[in-house]
Amino acid sequence: MLPLLAVLVAIMGYFYGIWMPKLSADAKAGYVREVEHHLDSVGAGLVPLLLGRQLDVIYENLDALMKANPEWKQIVLVDPEGKDLYPLGGRPNIRNQTDLQLIELQKPVFLNDTRLATLHVTVDQGPSIAKQRKHFFEIGIVFAAMALLLLVTMFLLFETMVIKPVHNLSRATKALARRDFDIPLPAVTKDEIGSLIETFSIMRESRRKAEENLARSNKELEQFAYVVSHDLREPLRMVGSYVTLLERRYAKQLDKDAFEFITFAKEGAKRMDQMIVDLLEYSRAGRKSGEQSQLTILPVLDEALHALSLRVKETSATIEVSEAIKDLPQLPGFHDELVRLFLNLIGNAIKYHPQDRAPVVVIDGRRENDRVIISVKDNGIGIDPQFFERIFQVFQRLHTRAEYEGSGVGLATCKKIVEHHAGRIWVESTPGQGATFFVSLPLSGPEPAALS
Ligand code: ADP
Repeated sequence: MLPLLAVLVAIMGYFYGIWMPKLSADAKAGYVREVEHHLDSVGAGLVPLLLGRQLDVIYENLDALMKANPEWKQIVLVDPEGKDLYPLGGRPNIRNQTDLQLIELQKPVFLNDTRLATLHVTVDQGPSIAKQRKHFFEIGIVFAAMALLLLVTMFLLFETMVIKPVHNLSRATKALARRDFDIPLPAVTKDEIGSLIETFSIMRESRRKAEENLARSNKELEQFAYVVSHDLREPLRMVGSYVTLLERRYAKQLDKDAFEFITFAKEGAKRMDQMIVDLLEYSRAGRKSGEQSQLTILPVLDEALHALSLRVKETSATIEVSEAIKDLPQLPGFHDELVRLFLNLIGNAIKYHPQDRAPVVVIDGRRENDRVIISVKDNGIGIDPQFFERIFQVFQRLHTRAEYEGSGVGLATCKKIVEHHAGRIWVESTPGQGATFFVSLPLSGPEPAALS
């Protein structure tokens, strides 16, 4: 509406500031021409009267002329010698009337080349100017009303044809970002906006289909992962139990080497089982697990620490949770996933430490604008910076199983969980002195695109 008002003000400014003064000047000049024209005919009428020296008739005529034109404040008729022929009783003094807008005009009265007399007329332009002003003011009002009407019509048209459809389209776009495909779209018209709406509608439909396909294939994949892991674990369990049976029943017939081989086979089966379980957990991470809710970080950490209490005891680890953690604002997230995230990070912080020193783990947190950053710092073996990216990939380990137990899926699962929360995870470390894992989570919660 504001731009339309600005246009109205500009039009009115042009009308009153430029057009009206010009019209007014033209009208003034027109009025002078009209009086001069009138004087021409008066002069022509005086010629026979001056020749016949009919002064009485001249007086009567000029008196009548004064009465008929009240704005003619003074008429003086001067003979060629400069003597006033009219008025007889001397010229009236009109100069001290300050409210008059006087103009003086002269009209010599000629017969052929002989000048018989000169008419001097003093006219008050005031009434004529006032009349014009009133007239222009009325035109101005009509003009403003028309301009206003035009602008309001334009605005209404603009509102119906552009603003409303674009507004609705933008609402539908935002809804689409939230994966809401059912917001009604404006009607498709034949103009550019209509074609935009049509294109958007086609795009939304194809996105809806793609989402449906993706959801279906994710479900199938999850089902597949479950079936495969379940089915794979079954024969694996069989291998394990038969090898154990073999060991028990034929203990007397087996030599030392055979026992060693059986142990290797049992361990291999156990390891493979753990890998399948971890892989299954990885495939499930970052998928909707329970309802998203407003979470306080401290109880989430407590739950993870509770699950780790045995390992903490075994390793004589010290776990410090800073005061700042308690002051962190709540954030939206998936409880079970965040417990799993801290379980993995703190578990690693306890695990990757040298034999000669007990683990010390410090968990700290801070708020940075619209995010919360939580860090898990340890005094362990540390990580070479060249592996900072690699350790977040599935099955990527930096150590042998003999050195440290593990399957290399933990950090990949952490990354998936953090990304599911529209967050970021990274590590800083000096090898030999420990590592710090940072998790940054938005207070606005997982982005719609991050949900699956
Ligand atoms: P896992 O612990 O099962 O091997 P992860 O994915 O959790 O798998 O970790 C990947 C690799 O990253 C580990 O093998 C280890 O080398 C390294 N790592 C993880 N956390 C730490 C840590 N706190 N300190 C040193 N190295 C670590």
